[in-house]
Amino acid sequence: MTSVLESPAPVTVRAPAKVNLELFVGPLRDDGFHALSTVYQAVGLHDDVTAALTDDWGCSVRGRDADKVPTDESNLALRAALALSEHTGGQEPVHLSIHKEIPVAGGMAGGSADAAAALVACDALWGTDVPKDELEGIAAGIGSDVPFLLHGGTAVGSGRGEVVTAVLAKGRYHWVFVPSLASGLSTPRVYAAFDERTAGTTLEEPQPSAALMSALRSGDASALAPVLDNDLQADAIGLQPAIGEVIESAMGFGALAAIVSGSGPTVAILADGAEGAIDLAVALTACGVAGDVLRATGPVQGAHILPTVRQL
Ligand code: ATP
Repeated sequence: MTSVLESPAPVTVRAPAKVNLELFVGPLRDDGFHALSTVYQAVGLHDDVTAALTDDWGCSVRGRDADKVPTDESNLALRAALALSEHTGGQEPVHLSIHKEIPVAGGMAGGSADAAAALVACDALWGTDVPKDELEGIAAGIGSDVPFLLHGGTAVGSGRGEVVTAVLAKGRYHWVFVPSLASGLSTPRVYAAFDERTAGTTLEEPQPSAALMSALRSGDASALAPVLDNDLQADAIGLQPAIGEVIESAMGFGALAAIVSGSGPTVAILADGAEGAIDLAVALTACGVAGDVLRATGPVQGAHILPTVRQL
């Protein structure tokens, strides 16, 4: 056991949520995952994970939706810490204190963000200094979105989403998110609905669209809006029709675009500038279609160490 005097100070890492600007689903692979082509953007809703040395492995969760997050070894942050420890030949136990701002089970990859944050925090705390490509490999073993949340910015995800390649993207985009629909939609349920709907059709190998890449190079939100696309949107709306109502209302209130984020149920609404985002948030709340509305801009950086420990 490390004495208090020798103990390294706890490390806090901040990781962002993601929105999928484009999500194309291809054929099922031999490993049971669908081939995906997605374009991720990291957005400014964050979870913070503080790693501290202790006698027993564990985690605690505070903040938004904390009661919906497991604190046993099914917690993705704890799984990530254990995977890094194993990869590096065994490390001292850590306690992870997670402060959540990212909606849970919302299609914004909050659990994956916590896993990415835990990897960066534990690597710094233990001084293991694992090379970036190895850290990405461990991240991919935890979940398809985790490597992107280490990376941040705007990037293409291929394979099952875990192979991340940066894209040339200009501009700053203003988003409004409506997460609080009746209950979360589990990713497996949405894929099951997709499989049922597409049974008997041949799915093409998915590829990023040239139109989206060109819109991102222009940095113009009104060029990006018409090319946002999500193959899972119809299935998410089929399972939770209220999502469709939010999309319609947002468009009625002047959104540039409104799409399902990942497998939903969060609706990601692209606004015309910062003021447009405020107006949309107010209108959606006032009309009663959205109980809870969040605003964020993107792109933002991936998991990074914070200089001081936030009071949890
Ligand atoms: P994705 O879009 O990657 O499928 P999501 O954003 O829809 O994910 P998450 O918030 O990542 O959903 O959580 C999905 C489930 O994972 C939750 O219902 C929860 O039980 C479990 N989970 C495990 N660890 C965490 C964590 N650290 N934070 C949130 N959920 C977690």
